[in-house]
Amino acid sequence: MLLLYHFFMGLIVSSALYPIYGINVLIIFFTNILLDVDHYILYIFKFKSFDIVKAHNYFFNEEKSFLLFFHTVEFLLVLLILSLSFKLVFFVLIGVVIHLLLDIYEETRKKYIGRFPSIVWWYLRKR
Ligand SMILES: [Zn+2]
Repeated sequence: MLLLYHFFMGLIVSSALYPIYGINVLIIFFTNILLDVDHYILYIFKFKSFDIVKAHNYFFNEEKSFLLFFHTVEFLLVLLILSLSFKLVFFVLIGVVIHLLLDIYEETRKKYIGRFPSIVWWYLRKR
């Protein structure tokens, strides 16, 4: 999903949650926006290039599925476990869930999922 949609939806949801969580909604807001950094990290490792424009275009045109670490069930589970001990991670978890729900909505609308939702699934398909 485009960064702009994440920005506006994050703004709406964070504003709605402000009366409950106060200033912590900033963590939710920025996590929701910055989660797609894993796209750029993957691009850097794969192509040994820091060209952010090419990275952006790559993911819009790539036909093969790819693994985005922050967009996996395993990452959610790690955050869930850590959030039991660390309150700040709970707000990161909310931001990640909002981000993933927006991505899933967009993927459902376009009837295309370009990423593996699980590291285990990716590993088993790769073999
Ligand atoms: Zn995303």
